[in-house]
Amino acid sequence: MSATIIDGKAFAATIRGKVADHVARLKAEQGITPGLAVVLVGEDPASQVYVRSKRKQTVEAGMNSYEHKLDADTSEADLLALIETLNADPAVHGILVQLPLPGHLDSDLVINAIDPVKDVDGFHISNVGLLGTGQKSMVPCTPLGCLMMLRDHLGALSGLDAVVLGRSNIVGKPMAQLLLGESCTVTIAHSRTRNLGDVVRRADIVVAAVGRPEMVPGDWIKPGATVIDVGINRIERDGGTVLVGDCHFESCAAVAGAITPVPGGVGPMTIACLLANTVTACCRAHALPEPEGLTA
Ligand code: NDP
Repeated sequence: MSATIIDGKAFAATIRGKVADHVARLKAEQGITPGLAVVLVGEDPASQVYVRSKRKQTVEAGMNSYEHKLDADTSEADLLALIETLNADPAVHGILVQLPLPGHLDSDLVINAIDPVKDVDGFHISNVGLLGTGQKSMVPCTPLGCLMMLRDHLGALSGLDAVVLGRSNIVGKPMAQLLLGESCTVTIAHSRTRNLGDVVRRADIVVAAVGRPEMVPGDWIKPGATVIDVGINRIERDGGTVLVGDCHFESCAAVAGAITPVPGGVGPMTIACLLANTVTACCRAHALPEPEGLTA
């Protein structure tokens, strides 16, 4: 194996430390405590785990955490009323509605009811538009985490060829926008892309966000490229369940210059960036300088 392993767990801890430092300064100098409200509708087990983890890390960073657990059959009107209340609450700087929502609720309608300034997931249509036009926005957490890792590892990204595998609204598209903002030459590949191996082989930076276990083999990787593996796939192997990424780790690591592992790569960065976005939202709400190194 020749690649440097990008340690997302350690880097996420550094980001959380920066968040905690900034929170401490906001409390000491401004008397402000950033607050994050998380809304969970229903009892999806995976969502419950995520919400618990978000709450724990929010509190550890010194911020206030407000949890709103609603029954699975909550009406859209009641959910929208709660969001209105949170929008108006000055103690709440960030609002996150845990997805997926139960089928009877319109996710787009609900997300677009959040005040864009408090939209720490960066999914509100206003934030999507701001990011797309290169303006200051709230940036979705997973792509923000990927960008932070790339900057940390590579420094300036200008002029590099980047291939983003996947075109989802939460990872692929915002990732491509961020890389374009860094002056990379960006290709977005998806399920209809022809000769995918040839496309990926051109890339100095590969971001894989497909959701297909170990789909990217080492011989698609340009020697020395930086590989960011967003995929989280549970598979059965050797009689147990293991987590693997979208890239075949051993063969890609043999060729790449650097690679993120799964687990322990992009995953831990996502919640760290949620905390970062909450501090940023708090600073914007109070017209205070934004924390350095925690935004796009
Ligand atoms: P989506 O299912 O929304 O999007 C997957 C994308 O991959 C689509 O654009 C799809 O193309 C493309 N795709 C599917 N099959 C192929 C193929 N054979 N060749 C090329 N492209 C293909 O997934 P998400 O973006 O939500 O998530 C992607 C992965 O990232 C998942 O494993 C998810 O679990 C993980 N994830 C990890 C996070 C983290 O914190 N680390 C956070 C969010 C997601 P098309 O549009 O043509 O269908």
